Amino acid sequence: MKQMTCAQMGGPATCSVIISGSTAEEMAKNGGIHVHQNHPEIAKQMDSMTPEDNEKWMADFKPKFDALPEM
Ligand SMILES: [Zn+2]
Repeated sequence: MKQMTCAQMGGPATCSVIISGSTAEEMAKNGGIHVHQNHPEIAKQMDSMTPEDNEKWMADFKPKFDALPEM
């Protein structure tokens, strides 16, 4: 299990809610749920992302996830 704050995942810089997941995909999914519930403006941007955008985001996110310490 790894943890990252919402801000680290690309949320608002002021949001320190902890998102956790055991894989990058799981954390991305949990982050998405949190964003949809708490940050409607960012959720709107996320919903308009193309599959290519999503792939790019994941390619950028994966190394960050891998660099996190295991909890
Ligand atoms: Zn947040």
